[in-house]
Amino acid sequence: MPSWHNERSMSAAPIDNAIDFSTPLASTGVDLFARIDNETMEQQLLQSGVVMTTIDGVINWGRKNSIWPMAFGLACCAIEMMSMSASRFDISRFGAEVFRGSPRQSDLMFIAGRVSNKMAPVIRHLYQQMPEPKWVISMGACATSTGVFNNYALIPVNQVIPVDVFVPGCPPRPEQLIHAVMMLQEKIGNSAGATRQALNL
Ligand code: SF4
Repeated sequence: MPSWHNERSMSAAPIDNAIDFSTPLASTGVDLFARIDNETMEQQLLQSGVVMTTIDGVINWGRKNSIWPMAFGLACCAIEMMSMSASRFDISRFGAEVFRGSPRQSDLMFIAGRVSNKMAPVIRHLYQQMPEPKWVISMGACATSTGVFNNYALIPVNQVIPVDVFVPGCPPRPEQLIHAVMMLQEKIGNSAGATRQALNL
């Protein structure tokens, strides 16, 4: 036998992850069985076509996937908001493209631009006309903190109405706004008491 063969045989490392054939069901590594054992009951039922959820979960799922924003812009940020709803960025992929012309048909208000003291009561009025549940996204530095126009004429929007998500930037990119919508969807999906709220209890 050639000498190189002996050298290779002598230096061969022991196999650490050998399959344990002493278990009758062991046809491969133990990892596979660990994954099966760790599956939750919900996952196992889902594979059989059974879905388990709560009424709160169904309501939240419907709400978060059918957000209707109000067609409302205050300054240059509104251009980015419009482009978010157009074909290139396409917010309809997230179920939030149906911009409504009336606050009574809207559940999301984008504050897209500067809020002046003169406009603040109008914004609050529009917000109050929106039916519950309703959400607000503050878009851009101006809406959140008056941005570069830090003077007596402007006011941060959270001093006028409650805000759910703040988006930084001047102006924020449409992708940032989409990310804000996704964060809002997560918040809506995790909110408690949707059934009681829907039934007015
Ligand atoms: S944050 Fe920038 S883009 Fe948006 S309204 Fe202010 S100045 Fe315009």
